[in-house]
Amino acid sequence: MSSHPIIEFKNVSKRFGDTSIFNDFNFSVKENEIVSIIGPSGSGKSTLLRILMTLEGIDGGYINVNGESLWHMPWNGSYVPASNKHLHKMRDHLGMVFQHFNLFPHMTVKRNITEAPMRVKGLSRSEAEKNAEDLLELVGLADKADSYPNDLSGGQKQRVGIARALAMRPSILLLDEITSALDPELVDEVLDVIRNLAKEQRFTMLLVTHEMYFAREVSDRVCFFDQGRIVEEGAPEDIFTSPKEERTKAFLNAYL
Ligand code: ADP
Ligand code: MG
Repeated sequence: MSSHPIIEFKNVSKRFGDTSIFNDFNFSVKENEIVSIIGPSGSGKSTLLRILMTLEGIDGGYINVNGESLWHMPWNGSYVPASNKHLHKMRDHLGMVFQHFNLFPHMTVKRNITEAPMRVKGLSRSEAEKNAEDLLELVGLADKADSYPNDLSGGQKQRVGIARALAMRPSILLLDEITSALDPELVDEVLDVIRNLAKEQRFTMLLVTHEMYFAREVSDRVCFFDQGRIVEEGAPEDIFTSPKEERTKAFLNAYL
């Protein structure tokens, strides 16, 4: 594993109106590292991922992805995204899977996966379809290419969500509570896909999860997050078997 940070937050601040979410926040992830973020709801976990995807702006500090700045500060001192061209280039590094799938209901499974690579990356239909077929094979849904999202179970929808994110060939995968909306019996089929990706260590992964056993199994590092701060972080064995901070202990006691 290289020690080069592929994601770096430096002194980042983020507010929603008068509410401060991050204040002087520092965080980094190394290339090919798998990092889990755990913590109570409302602590800023989704905001962290959304900032990385440039779905949210920041109010101060710097964020680097792959050594390049995500945001530029214009003359008036407020932070805005860089040019569209730069944004597209930065977004190319990142793939995100959401809690609520966000699939296009009027498109077949295959179209859901081919749409962005054709539109954004300029792949031909045949290239994009070949990739989609390979990815559907990878997530165990080769037979669902022509189905519509509404005909799939939640677990199948989320596996399509993963295939769709991978279709853009990101080097960083962001996973935001991807099993939270699923019935318990459907959780494992989705986590298995991620387990396999994690085993191959081909991606940097930043995942927010409430599945503590899963976080323990796949992560190189676990961060316990509360109120916009990393309260405690370390190797999964350390965090889960001998947490040091009272807040971490209280949180884990409620889950394990
Ligand atoms: P988590 O994912 O850890 O549950 P979030 O990042 O979703 O937490 O939210 C952190 C805080 O920011 C919460 O108090 C939430 O209500 C607030 N928040 C998130 N998004 C917005 C928004 N677009 N506008 C205003 N407040 C928001
Ligand atoms: Mg969230």
